[in-house]
Amino acid sequence: MKITVLGSGTSQGVPIIGCTCKTCLSGNPKDKRLRASVHVDVNGTGILIDTSIDFRQQMLRAGITDLDAILFTHHHVDHIFGLDDLRQINQRHRKFVDVFGNKHTLDEIKVTFRYALDEELIRYWAVPLMTFNYLDNKEFEFRGIKIIPIEVFHGRIKIFGYRIGNFAYITDASMIPEPEMKKLEGLDTLILNSLRKAPHPTHFNVEQATEIALRVKAKRVYFTHITHDLNHDETNTELPEGLQLAYDGLEINID
Ligand SMILES: [Zn+2]
Ligand SMILES: [Zn+2]
Ligand SMILES: [Zn+2]
Repeated sequence: MKITVLGSGTSQGVPIIGCTCKTCLSGNPKDKRLRASVHVDVNGTGILIDTSIDFRQQMLRAGITDLDAILFTHHHVDHIFGLDDLRQINQRHRKFVDVFGNKHTLDEIKVTFRYALDEELIRYWAVPLMTFNYLDNKEFEFRGIKIIPIEVFHGRIKIFGYRIGNFAYITDASMIPEPEMKKLEGLDTLILNSLRKAPHPTHFNVEQATEIALRVKAKRVYFTHITHDLNHDETNTELPEGLQLAYDGLEINID
């Protein structure tokens, strides 16, 4: 299994338009963060988690030319607004792509991308073509790959993280219920959201994410969905061993 971090930034990305802070002006490529998304390659099956606003750029940058499935965490703009560019995958490979998410997420996507349901446009392959797969909070299989949704709170709404093998990806969480914490046992790698140092009503800050990470005891933990408050190199020197900030282009291989 190969995981590629396509974007590690929060909803505005980093740098933020017009900001002149140290991180936004940093020359370190690891301080340049597109909106949060990862790609997971499981023996040649390509699974994308979220179609971020930067989806097109991310696919081009990572050299990804095909997708088999998209797992949506939730419907917020930074996680879905790149979806229109799925057309290129549809057209080039002459196929619909399986998309997965909870009911709220997929229903919201159908409202936001209403034009993608237009039968006439679908007939001409002029819109992103998807097969919608509604998920309960239950393990499922996609082409023989076991995928476990992890239901977490993002403020008041329930959204999904996902576990594939001994890798788990959780973004935009502000609380993980105890039964869901059990799904994180025995992980090799966890990617978890950690917004900034100051508390936030709907996202873990560094302190909360660190506490979760230390409890999970994955071999490696990377933080994602990061604001400009966290300078890459500075923050990494402050984090406990085994915890680091993710960065765009980070590749992780798991047996
Ligand atoms: Zn987000
Ligand atoms: Zn800034
Ligand atoms: Zn969100």
